[in-house]
Amino acid sequence: MIIQLQQGIPTELLEEILQEVKGIGFKANEVKTQEAHYIVGIGKKDFDIRTLGQLPGVADIHRVSDEYKLISRKWRVNPTLIDLGDGVVIGEGNFSIMAGPCSIENERQIELVVEHLKANNVKIMRGGVFKPRSSPYAFRGMGLEGLRMFHQLCSENGIKIITEVMQVSQIEDMVDYVDVFQVGARNSQNFNLLDSLGEAQKPVLLKRGISGTLEELLQAAEYIFSNGNEKIMLCERGIRSYENAYRNVLDLNAVPVLKAKTHLPVIVDPSHGIGLRDHVEPMSLAAVMAGADGVIYETHQKPEEAFSDGQQTVNFQESERLIKRMRQAFALRESF
Ligand code: PEP
Ligand code: MN
Repeated sequence: MIIQLQQGIPTELLEEILQEVKGIGFKANEVKTQEAHYIVGIGKKDFDIRTLGQLPGVADIHRVSDEYKLISRKWRVNPTLIDLGDGVVIGEGNFSIMAGPCSIENERQIELVVEHLKANNVKIMRGGVFKPRSSPYAFRGMGLEGLRMFHQLCSENGIKIITEVMQVSQIEDMVDYVDVFQVGARNSQNFNLLDSLGEAQKPVLLKRGISGTLEELLQAAEYIFSNGNEKIMLCERGIRSYENAYRNVLDLNAVPVLKAKTHLPVIVDPSHGIGLRDHVEPMSLAAVMAGADGVIYETHQKPEEAFSDGQQTVNFQESERLIKRMRQAFALRESF
């Protein structure tokens, strides 16, 4: 069950409600987010919802049978909107485009990408400074120094930043320089990281694990929410299968299914999803039609020279066409 408490509830009332919840045999978890104050009751016993609902201090109460609670659409029907400021809003009714290189490489590269994004009215730039690489000898990112430069150039140009955080200790150093924290597929179930991002208060884009189920992804998002942060979006980025004609299998089934299960925005990453530059466009358009709230993809001025993931990175010309087509597809979807 989820109990939403009245704003600024006095401690005595809160204590009474907690006691009542425990009294009916439920474990009471108190959750305080940037938006509201809740009690998440966990238990199987049957109870009369009215007994709790009428208590002073209770604003709202719902039964939620899903394993995840606060991110469930059974509780919150209205879709979550994530406001990054300056008119950049992610979620229902908006189609968010996030584009940029796999890795931040140098100042010139950032300038060129920013210029490309501005010319196409794209407001969010992606780019990793801490890179999870399969080989320890591969380029592992420019680190904080790269992030500061990335932030400086983007803020001067009104562009928001999404970048990956790999471990808890990086959050504090990164928090002032990012608009959205990305949790990569390899960290999708790093519960300590998820707990800490719940406290960090900046929006989080949570990727699905390499072999992660949707249930696991949703439970991972619940970690962030239950630690205090409601600003979460989920990202389908392809899952591993036996097929080796492409890097991953972009599971577009996940889009409508996730959107039915949760109120959180759902974003698709076609670059990692298929791993082949030439096929990023059709998969992006398919993602739009499947109902995605946005797309995050890799672009670079010279993909063949990119420090990482060049094989799945589109050049600016391809990117421009992709942006135009995605917007057309979105307008068509909205007209249905
Ligand atoms: C990335 O976005 O560059 C990345 C490493 O993604 P993923 O975690 O999905 O592999
Ligand atoms: Mn990449």
